[in-house]
Amino acid sequence: MGKSGEIIGHWVNNQVWGGESRSRGDIFDPATGKISRPVALADKADVSTVVAAAAAAFPDWSNTPLGRRARVLFAFREIAERNSDDLAQIISAEHGKVVSDARGEIARGMEVVEFACGIPHLLAGRYSEQVSTNTDVHSIRQALGVCVGITPFNFPVMVPMWMWPVAIACGNTFVLKPSDRDPSASMLVAQWLADAGLPDGVFNVVNGDKETVNALIDHPDVRAVSFVGSTPVARSIYSQAASNGKRVQALGGAKNHMVVLPDANIDTAADAAVSAGYGSAGERCMAISVVVAVGNIADDLVAAIRTRTEALTIGAGTDPQAEMGPLITSAHRDRVCALVESGLAEGAKLVVDGRALVEPEGGFFLGPCLFDEVTPSMSIYQEEIFGPVLCVVRVETYEQATDLISKNPYANGAAIFTADGGAARRFEREVDAGMVGINVAIPVPMAYYSFGGWKQSLFGDTHVHGPEGVHFYTRGKVVTSQWADPAERGPNLGFPTNQ
Ligand code: NAD
Repeated sequence: MGKSGEIIGHWVNNQVWGGESRSRGDIFDPATGKISRPVALADKADVSTVVAAAAAAFPDWSNTPLGRRARVLFAFREIAERNSDDLAQIISAEHGKVVSDARGEIARGMEVVEFACGIPHLLAGRYSEQVSTNTDVHSIRQALGVCVGITPFNFPVMVPMWMWPVAIACGNTFVLKPSDRDPSASMLVAQWLADAGLPDGVFNVVNGDKETVNALIDHPDVRAVSFVGSTPVARSIYSQAASNGKRVQALGGAKNHMVVLPDANIDTAADAAVSAGYGSAGERCMAISVVVAVGNIADDLVAAIRTRTEALTIGAGTDPQAEMGPLITSAHRDRVCALVESGLAEGAKLVVDGRALVEPEGGFFLGPCLFDEVTPSMSIYQEEIFGPVLCVVRVETYEQATDLISKNPYANGAAIFTADGGAARRFEREVDAGMVGINVAIPVPMAYYSFGGWKQSLFGDTHVHGPEGVHFYTRGKVVTSQWADPAERGPNLGFPTNQ
């Protein structure tokens, strides 16, 4: 999408548009720390232009037959499958994650596209015959209009795909506001949708920052807002959009716990903790942040995690040898380093210190850090770190482990590692989290279920994609109809009578 150094614009009516605003942001290559390109930041007037295009496209698109809408998504899937390496390279260059991780996020996002290809079935309503004499009832679900997606930097392809495939399959038009850190992937996706035959104005991208977001959620023609990002922004977008009368789902931050019972397989648990803690440099909303070691497993578990952590290869995301890349910005890297300092100052034991890896070749690197003997009063326990820092909390009992999770304000994912089916079943029933893993550290639901946390990890009541996504992007209508049997009205219509 454009050449290195060229400005990244917006995508409206199936073409790149520079916008009227002269405001610009910088896109960095996190592996070198250098600015790679500027991005246009839309102001209120630019937002109005983009929303107007989406609103103009809505009547025709919502009237387009279901099968034809699905065929555009099938065609998109084929294009994306053929060219996914190009998209993975773009993700890695702007986000910094290793290319294999980037491929993984594309694959998980494409599952939602595949789910949305089934829209003719997903939109089927219900029918009740003869609810009263000559009277039937049926329900239908109809599109809303212009829907907006505001997405974070950490999954520049997958998180938007939690939203737009379902929204447009349901007959809505869509305006995506990607993260201003890594917007290029969305521009390539938009090009592929146009190549797949999506009509002008159905899928649009508006790049920008806080001003852009405010203009979108205050715009009278926007009907629904899907947000994924940090908890403070999620909370404020939820209340602002709701007070404007819009439908809103706002997914926030996380602090995911992985409970390891004494009977767990140590190698399996340690492999899972390292992959779920340091994958994508810990910049995942479902990353494991806290390992809760129950009883006498703690010493062996920490030793096994340490060995694996020290063996990780750190490097640029585009380096095929690298297992973990840099962080997204220098400011974020500095914030994570400051939290590591605070962990030391508050008495946690730093078993692996990744700080020596700060800034090779000027990139935003921080090596993996492992803390043991972390307590709930410490900042490293309380804050969402969103970096390569794994904290081990030691407890004596299962009840103490679940109590920790219940007291945490976040409730995205929680996992348990055990060989005991009864303990796993009890955990599944009792744990206070929206997504639960049993011997699975990152329990991201498949596309045909819905993704979402509880408490401060989600504002609103509807999770994304799957059946709840279809529900979010449509509104219900129930029709009650009564038709007298022609036979009861006499023979004049040519129907047989009861005589
Ligand atoms: P962020 O909240 O800073 O930004 C998210 C989006 O909101 C971006 O598009 C950004 O441009 C915009 N934005 C930022 N500040 C804003 C403001 N003050 N007003 C209006 N809009 C604003 O989040 P991020 O740093 O891009 O992403 C990391 C966060 O996202 C983490 O907290 C992570 O846990 C969370 N996240 C959650 C999930 C989930 O499923 N719950 C998934 C991915 C990421």
